[in-house]
Amino acid sequence: MLRRTKIVATLGPACSDPKVLDRMIEGGVDVVRLNFSHGTPEEHQQRCELVRSLAKTRGRAVGVLVDLQGPKIRIGKFKDGKITLSPGDKFVLDATCELGDQGRVGLDYKELVQDVARGATLLLDDGRIEMWVEEVVGTEVHCKVVQGGTLSNNKGINRKGGGLSAAALTEKDIEDIKTAALIKADYLAVSFPRSAADIQQAREILRAAGGKAWIVSKIERAEAIEALEEIIAASDAIMVARGDLGVEVGDAAVPALQKRMIRAARDQNKVVITATQMMESMISSPIPTRAEVSDVANAVLDGTDAVMLSAETAAGKYPVEAIQAMHRVCLEAEKEYDSMAGARGIDQGFLRVDEAIAMSAAFTALHLNIKAIAAMTQSGSTALWMSRISTHVPIYALTPEVDTRRKVTLFRGVYPVNFKPATNDRDVLLAEAEDELRRRGAVRNGDLILLTIGEPIGKPGGTNTMKIVRVGERKKA
Ligand code: PGA
Ligand code: MN
Repeated sequence: MLRRTKIVATLGPACSDPKVLDRMIEGGVDVVRLNFSHGTPEEHQQRCELVRSLAKTRGRAVGVLVDLQGPKIRIGKFKDGKITLSPGDKFVLDATCELGDQGRVGLDYKELVQDVARGATLLLDDGRIEMWVEEVVGTEVHCKVVQGGTLSNNKGINRKGGGLSAAALTEKDIEDIKTAALIKADYLAVSFPRSAADIQQAREILRAAGGKAWIVSKIERAEAIEALEEIIAASDAIMVARGDLGVEVGDAAVPALQKRMIRAARDQNKVVITATQMMESMISSPIPTRAEVSDVANAVLDGTDAVMLSAETAAGKYPVEAIQAMHRVCLEAEKEYDSMAGARGIDQGFLRVDEAIAMSAAFTALHLNIKAIAAMTQSGSTALWMSRISTHVPIYALTPEVDTRRKVTLFRGVYPVNFKPATNDRDVLLAEAEDELRRRGAVRNGDLILLTIGEPIGKPGGTNTMKIVRVGERKKA
């Protein structure tokens, strides 16, 4: 059975062994994530090359997503590496402090003193430690500890409710965007964007460096929720980045926001990844908890394109098992998926001919007993539009473009097929497409296939034609 929901796996030390990586690909990884918060550009480049060569051996397309670190809103280091704070303790975040102690610590993020005032709540180490700001004096933020615990070097700081001014792209990010262009990444994820302008800036830097990646906006700041529609409009995809988002808006707000974000992305014909702690216990356990299984299944039912693994595959003990668990949970959840849930409204107008054909094709596939859709596409956009209408019909993206085959790996229900027709003759082309799907076992004699194509053939121009054929019934010339 074909899984429609796609799996993104973060690479790291736990899968640097090519054998492990190969088993992950065999297990069903569609896209790998290179996390630029860790490692050197050279390491990422090597991983990228290894993935592509393993995928090639298996005759598969695997997408590569470069995830930028984003602004480091962090404390500095401690003399002894760490301290322990108790509720009621006074503690100073001091932009000029070199080495911290029990009473104060320095800041990598010096602008914090301008961003907060008395009454602000600061959350450190992913929300494990909470402080209340009593006053800001010069370079010092004086706090009272509300929730204590161990605080160690370089832990992150979030402000409850958002409002930190750090720019989304740092100098390191700008360098890393060049690496993304160099390795021909398929997707580039921008961390902590606040507005559409942040996304446009990333896109401009990437294009100037020659990169063609699609841009993924990680929704992980309170401000990004307020600007959600404009950020989605400026992006090709979004990530429901539940880790940081949960710290900023409170963990309880995240599930409903996940549903809203998935709906909003699909409504704008964009792709959506659901991320963070999906199989967290599998970092050290070979099986997921019931709650994790439910979480992955619910993301599928919400209509996400992809589910993502972070430390589970990058640093966990069971990277292959985590992929296998996600695979089986997605497959099972998809059986229950209400086929019209998440569909774009039938009352919405189309702006383009190719969009109209794509949507009509998906709608027809839903209502006629179509076995497979074959979309002959250059850019992949036809397949993307089709996949915004939820059906159980597989969409094969037939394309000679390797970049397109790697991009569609992230689209729900879309499967890349290497298709290099030797002719521009329409009838021969359609016959070749039919044969290709039959060879793959996607269809048998008597099944209906829906094909879309752009005419005149050979001229780049976009899809404008849809044809339905019964397999095996064409007249022999
Ligand atoms: P990260 O982003 O893993 O890069 O922090 C995802 C998240 O915050 O959920
Ligand atoms: Mn994050």
